[in-house]
Amino acid sequence: MARKNFGGIKTDIKCRILDKHFEPIQGIFAAGEAAGMAGGHINGAAALEGTMLGPSIFSGRVAGGWAASEAGYGDGFIGTPNRP
Ligand SMILES: Cc1cc2nc3c(=O)[nH]c(=O)nc-3n(C[C@H](O)[C@H](O)[C@H](O)COP(=O)(O)OP(=O)(O)OC[C@H]3O[C@@H](n4cnc5c(N)ncnc54)[C@H](O)[C@@H]3O)c2cc1C
Repeated sequence: MARKNFGGIKTDIKCRILDKHFEPIQGIFAAGEAAGMAGGHINGAAALEGTMLGPSIFSGRVAGGWAASEAGYGDGFIGTPNRP
């Protein structure tokens, strides 16, 4: 069993999965370690121990926001904190 994955599915800033031409595939999103949040994307080639949970949780929030938006709910997630 692998302990962690430093590769992952290529996504754009809305966590939409990209095809081989780097075009988003409609209706499919990826987040967390599956989308390279443990390294290669947010963390780059020099990912360190302990830097995976934050990007994984954050990208889940981004993917969920844009998936809901694509389904007709909400305005996506632009990264502005939702608090006063
Ligand atoms: C031993 C260990 C220690 C670690 N320590 C740290 C640390 O100190 N700091 C840090 O930042 N990172 C650490 N990591 C890495 C971090 O835990 C992962 O990168 C992170 O949890 C990935 O989050 P995720 O949501 O992408 O995936 P996961 O947390 O693996 O969540 C995926 C979920 O999908 C579920 N699932 C799978 N298949 C299906 C299916 N077919 N249908 C429905 N559900 C499914 C699984 O049950 C699981 O709940 C550690 C990892 C390990 C293994």
